[in-house]
Amino acid sequence: MASRKRHIPERTCIGCGAKQSKNELIRLVVDSGGLVVRDDWGKGRGAYVCPNNSCWKGLEKEHILRKAFGREGPIALHSELQGITWGNGNNEIEKRLF
Ligand SMILES: [Zn+2]
Repeated sequence: MASRKRHIPERTCIGCGAKQSKNELIRLVVDSGGLVVRDDWGKGRGAYVCPNNSCWKGLEKEHILRKAFGREGPIALHSELQGITWGNGNNEIEKRLF
């Protein structure tokens, strides 16, 4: 493989399992109460997901979140991040992203 001049780290989407460059994915973290929130720059264990509807849907499944964060207890997507429709430019996350 040819070497790239600017290396952007790759991360795996927890929805589809595809590897993407980090800056094309949304970073999520879980707080101590088991709430999953968006966090672009924070430290700690993050999970990454593609900004599209099919991958985002997976975040509503507890077992996917649990596996992604290696967490035993209850875990849930923050209500602000639920029910987002990607691709219409109308949700707040998408506005901030693009
Ligand atoms: Zn994906």
